[in-house]
Amino acid sequence: MTADCLFCKIVAGQVPATVLYDSERTLAFRDINPQAVAHVLVVPKQHHEDAVSLATDAAGLLAELVTAAAAVAEAEGIVDSGYRLVFNTGPDAGRTVFHAHLHLLGGEQLGPFGRH
Ligand code: 5GP
Ligand code: ZN
Repeated sequence: MTADCLFCKIVAGQVPATVLYDSERTLAFRDINPQAVAHVLVVPKQHHEDAVSLATDAAGLLAELVTAAAAVAEAEGIVDSGYRLVFNTGPDAGRTVFHAHLHLLGGEQLGPFGRH
């Protein structure tokens, strides 16, 4: 656990969250400020800064985030309608929490990608 990391605190149960999926190495919970009908964050339980450090140091764990997201999509009933998986990196992408997290967005027709 990394001190003062919000998602480490959620993983530790010190900050409440609506958990949808809980595996040995991953946790998925609803985003507090949803940008779609279904907006879920999938995180590694171990602290990693971002997707690139996961890819470099723990590629298997990066793959587990995707399979966890697929399990959440199944549970949310949005496999057929479709969904989007996003990693934000850096200020232009609006990154705010520096514990790697995969956004799962769906449950409705999503807007165009990129600007606005
Ligand atoms: P980022 O912008 O870093 O890719 O995404 C961080 C996400 O974390 C945002 O979508 C934001 O709404 C969400 N978030 C911030 N604080 C909390 C919180 O305390 N609980 C939950 N469940 N989500 C949070
Ligand atoms: Zn953390």
